[in-house]
Amino acid sequence: EIKLSGVHKWYGHYHALDNINLEIARKERIVICGPSGSGKSTLIRCINRLESHQQGEIIVGGVELTENEKNIDEVRREVGMVFQHFNLFPHLTILENCILAPVWVRKMKKAKATEIAMHFLERVRIPDQANKYPGQLSGGQQQRVAIARALCMNPKVMLFDEPTSALDPEMVKEVLDTMISLADEGMTMVCVTHEMGFARQVADRVIFMDQGRVIEQASPAEFFDNPQSERSQLFLSQIL
Ligand code: ATP
Ligand code: MG
Repeated sequence: EIKLSGVHKWYGHYHALDNINLEIARKERIVICGPSGSGKSTLIRCINRLESHQQGEIIVGGVELTENEKNIDEVRREVGMVFQHFNLFPHLTILENCILAPVWVRKMKKAKATEIAMHFLERVRIPDQANKYPGQLSGGQQQRVAIARALCMNPKVMLFDEPTSALDPEMVKEVLDTMISLADEGMTMVCVTHEMGFARQVADRVIFMDQGRVIEQASPAEFFDNPQSERSQLFLSQIL
């Protein structure tokens, strides 16, 4: 579903992604971890072209990401993204947040978009909040709205960038449970997270990054119980 070959990215002189080679199959669940500044966000932002790479090839669902705007639109249609800070529009209600892209980007009828949005708000277990504003919801609820909003576009792949790291501890579980149920349904997922319990339970593969490189890839059991590189051992000793 997703293929990166020899991908490099620089911010000015800073080499943020250094020769990334990665293949992610349909329905695969990937967890990316690594120290701060290792390039995790940059990597997933390149997958939906929120950032552009300068060398190498990124193909998502058979479409190559290049300067070509048409390709970028095509890929974005297939890829949902959830950020650390929920990025909901504060002046729109929960329901309006959810139907915005389907109506404006997909040209869907408002009634149809509303029906779909309510379906996903039920899935994330907050249909009763539909007419409230983001500021009236807890962090965990807002993040579940962000997930529902992404699902309204019927994505083939979901990207998560530390979706629980801005949440109070008691709200982490409700968001992780939502992600687990998505995984159970066979969604292709790429998650940057340090929630190691989630990684163990859900991930098919853990990718460890450091200094813009993929240092290690393994099943969660192998990675956590028997990390191979010194850097991953150090990293795990600090977070576990
Ligand atoms: P964290 O765990 O803190 O979120 P990360 O692994 O997601 O870190 P990135 O955000 O991908 O790291 O950043 C990788 C490196 O690129 C960092 O050194 C960062 O300072 C740099 N960087 C990121 N975004 C930009 C930018 N827009 N301009 C310049 N440098 C950037
Ligand atoms: Mg990051």
